[in-house]
Amino acid sequence: MPAVLNGKVAIVTGAGRGIGKQIALHLAQSGAHVIVNYANSKQGAQEIVEQIKQAGGQAEAIQADVSKVEAITDMIRQTVELYGRIDILVNNAAIDPMNDFFDVTEAIWDSILDTNLKGTFFCSQACAKEMVKVGGGKIINISSVHGSLTMPRYAAYASTKGGINALTRQLALDLSQYNINVNAVAPGATEVEKFSLTDPTHDKDRIGKQIPLGRIGYPQDVAPIVAFLASEESAFITGQVITVDGGSSTRFFLQ
Ligand code: NAP
Repeated sequence: MPAVLNGKVAIVTGAGRGIGKQIALHLAQSGAHVIVNYANSKQGAQEIVEQIKQAGGQAEAIQADVSKVEAITDMIRQTVELYGRIDILVNNAAIDPMNDFFDVTEAIWDSILDTNLKGTFFCSQACAKEMVKVGGGKIINISSVHGSLTMPRYAAYASTKGGINALTRQLALDLSQYNINVNAVAPGATEVEKFSLTDPTHDKDRIGKQIPLGRIGYPQDVAPIVAFLASEESAFITGQVITVDGGSSTRFFLQ
């Protein structure tokens, strides 16, 4: 893999498992020093750090709940102590519980909004302060097809992803004067550990048949797009949402 991110320092939130894990590995393989953030998946985060170090890369795991500004501030302080700078932020951490509309309580709404949208905003604000000091940077928000098309029982989650798309455009405008590019990647259905572990009805082949390109997505489909947006190859792209969904969002599903 070309070392297009050599010497860059990247934070990937929620990187102890799922899509974030693959993004962390890919950025490290591209030469970045990676902070593998986690909330609960300490073992997963430590395993990824080991994997990166064994391959000759640099990484550290840092615990922080991105829904708490104090925890974000502490993670940024630790990162700067370790590596001296921040060049890349990937806002990947999210929760996506499904709830019937009338069952959404204030606590459920707040926890989803705080993790997905507030976390994205305040991680971006804290990292952008460091990016300004080094003359620029790249922020990549992991959105979702649910930011534009959705399904029943996703009111709070879909709201956060629509919000992330709007925030991506807003931050791109506000931060362009500092040479900070802000873009989003919106995955469609993507196979991660939790589906097969927690949902007995999960069937990736059945889901894949409904996707124009004939299969479910994998974290490996998302990570290279994030790495491209983190690199200088995408220097003239900002404020965009790139959909990675095998064509799902091209199709009208009444059939
Ligand atoms: P996942 O397997 O459920 O992983 C979620 C990650 O977010 C975990 O690493 C988790 O960390 C972290 N996280 C949750 N709350 C956190 C908090 N308060 N502070 C820090 N980290 C927190 O999800 P995924 O499928 O990989 O999704 C990754 C991103 O892709 C999300 O933004 C999701 O919305 C988006 N996406 C996924 C799909 C899909 O089909 N998989 C489709 C579209 C978009 P811990 O394990 O340490 O708690």
